[in-house]
Amino acid sequence: MPLSSATPRLADIESRAVAAYLGLALGDALGATVEFMTPREIAAQYKVHDTIRGGGWLRLRPGQVTDDTTMALALGGAILQSGRVDALACARAFDDWMRARPVDIGNTVRRGLLHFRVTGIPETEPSEHDAGNGAAMRVLPVALATLGQPEAQVRAACRAQAHVTHHNALSDAATECLALMVQDALHGAARDPLLQRRVIPLVTQHPEFEFRNVTRSNPSGYVVETLRVVFQAFFGTTGFRECLIDVVNRGGDADTTGAIAGMLAGALYGEAALPKAWLAALDPPTRLECAAQARALLEVRTQPG
Ligand code: MG
Ligand code: MG
Repeated sequence: MPLSSATPRLADIESRAVAAYLGLALGDALGATVEFMTPREIAAQYKVHDTIRGGGWLRLRPGQVTDDTTMALALGGAILQSGRVDALACARAFDDWMRARPVDIGNTVRRGLLHFRVTGIPETEPSEHDAGNGAAMRVLPVALATLGQPEAQVRAACRAQAHVTHHNALSDAATECLALMVQDALHGAARDPLLQRRVIPLVTQHPEFEFRNVTRSNPSGYVVETLRVVFQAFFGTTGFRECLIDVVNRGGDADTTGAIAGMLAGALYGEAALPKAWLAALDPPTRLECAAQARALLEVRTQPG
C-alpha cells in the first residue's frame, strides 16, 4: 500500500533521517533537565520548560545528552562496522559503552550487559521484568539501516538489538512499532496513516498501549507508560517544538519520552521544523555525529547481506 502519492526523493529521505536523529538528541537534552520531576514541580520552577539548559538530577551541561542518545550512537556504530544488525556486534558495542562510564544507565540495560559479560551470549532470557523502555529508545539506527527491507526483516533486526538487554513481548512490540513508524514517516507518511497503520494494530494486539482519552503524566520507565505519553503528545500536536514541549512537561522519564517523541516528530516534520535555538544549544560533537550516522546508516540498506 503506497503511503503517499509521490515517491519521496532520496534527499527528502536523508533529510528526514537526519531530523529523526537530531530530534532524538534534542528531546533527550531537553527532557533530561526535568527527568523524574512531576508536572507540578516543573511548572513551579519553569512555568513551561522549553529551553535546552542542562542541569537536572544528572547536573548536565547545557546541550548534553544522556544514555538515550549515546546508546543509539553506540548501536549505530556497531551496525556501520558490521554492515548489518548483528546481535553480537551490538552487545559488544553496548558493553564498550558501559565501560566508558555513561552519564546514566538503566537497570535492565546494566543487568543484560553483565549477563553478556559472563556468558558471551548476546541475548537475555525472556523476562516479564524486561518491559522497560531501554530497547525502544535506542532503536533508530536499526530503522535507518533496514529502511526498505521486508517488514519481517525489520522486526527481526529490532529484536536482535533489543534482546541484548530486554527480552519481553511488550518491549518488542513497542520497539518494532516505533521503527516502522519512523520508516513510514521517512517515506512520506503523514500523521494519521502512522496512527492507522502502526499504532492502532499495536493497541489491538496489546491493549496496554491504549492512550486515547486518558490523561497521563509522570511516565515511568515502563515502556507502556512511555509510549502512551509519547503517542498522546505526538498525535495531539501539529509541530516538532509543540510535541516535544508537550511531552517533556509531563515529567517522569522525560529524557526518554523526549527522545522517542523527538525521533518520531523529526522524521515526520523534517529538518526545517527543528528549532534553531535548540540545535545551537545541542552539544556540537553529538550534533555532528547524529547527522553523520543518519546519512551513513541509510547507505547500509543498499549493501547485500
Ligand atoms: Mg537518559
Ligand atoms: Mg530516561
